[in-house]
Amino acid sequence: MASSKLNIGIDLGTSNTLVYSSGRGVIFNEPTVVAFDIETDKIIAVGREAKDMLGKTHEKIRVVRPINQGVIADKDTTIRMLEYIIENHLMNFENFRPKNTVVLICCHSDLSNIERKALQDIIINFGIHDVFVQEEVKAGAIGAGIDIYTPEGAMIIDVGGGSTDIGVLALGDIVVSNSIKMAGNHFDEEIRKFVKKKHNFEIGILTAEQVKIALSTLKDDLQDEKEITVAGRDLKRGLPSRVVVKQSEVRDVLKRCFNTIASQILKVLEITPPEIAADIIEAGIVLNGGGAQIEGLSEYLEDLCQLEVRVSPEPLTAIVKGTKELLKNRGDYLIAPSD
Ligand code: ADP
Ligand code: MG
Repeated sequence: MASSKLNIGIDLGTSNTLVYSSGRGVIFNEPTVVAFDIETDKIIAVGREAKDMLGKTHEKIRVVRPINQGVIADKDTTIRMLEYIIENHLMNFENFRPKNTVVLICCHSDLSNIERKALQDIIINFGIHDVFVQEEVKAGAIGAGIDIYTPEGAMIIDVGGGSTDIGVLALGDIVVSNSIKMAGNHFDEEIRKFVKKKHNFEIGILTAEQVKIALSTLKDDLQDEKEITVAGRDLKRGLPSRVVVKQSEVRDVLKRCFNTIASQILKVLEITPPEIAADIIEAGIVLNGGGAQIEGLSEYLEDLCQLEVRVSPEPLTAIVKGTKELLKNRGDYLIAPSD
């Protein structure tokens, strides 16, 4: 019976992996990082705990981020991580049977059919044969509250860790899309480079991410400007020390990054069919992904794109929550999800 099936939706992101299960909601939401014991090849940690080990390991531990810019870069580790999630988060469900489970795994819009098949095969290898792949832009739009099945065009932008994905949807499918590698990880790298150049000071990539999250803004008017003191290496003396990073410094780095993103948004709009472009002018653009939480981002993009921009209600969980609807109708276009 179809109704008794266990529906599972997976958002395998560069930074974070999320899993949805029918009846329980989001059952897994952790960084996409796995730590291994090199000698035994056993997993020692997955998620936040493994991420905290990045850059701090000795020769007995290997920490891997298996997804790079939205695409599987390390297949073995991806399989081990999914296996870990299935064993620790699904096996204990009384109704979990591989034969009775449907899995939707989200992917980048530019993934080829061969790459989609490879993704599907990973799940089939766990004995779950009912598996289908859908574009994460679609799931994200649904999760952001957009009814993608109407003829009304919508534009959704996901500023994630590895890539920023721009998608235009109508009638349940993607009309135009573009993915660029300018996203969270790149912002962190730019902050790191800036601190090195300006302060002659070296910080780690996780510290750069902390600086970004603590100070992220695109606002011009910074009353009571925030700052953060972080540790790293003073390159002049070659010794561990501390440095103060100001919010306006981070803002200027982010501004440069988002100028590039805005020009890509405009390029997508240029190739969007006119009727759909007219809908986007009416409805505006919706932002998803961790980067959508940057203060003042909608106003900044509104200014550059001359369109209304708003942040999705739950930018980090929109994709995985959107899988719920897609699982109901297997993502078939024009079949509106029934209640
Ligand atoms: P992915 O889908 O690629 O896994 P996510 O949508 O989960 O990515 O977003 C992760 C990115 O969002 C990371 O680069 C993280 O540093 C960034 N991020 C999270 N919170 C914030 C914030 N408040 N301000 C700016 N960036 C943030
Ligand atoms: Mg994502």
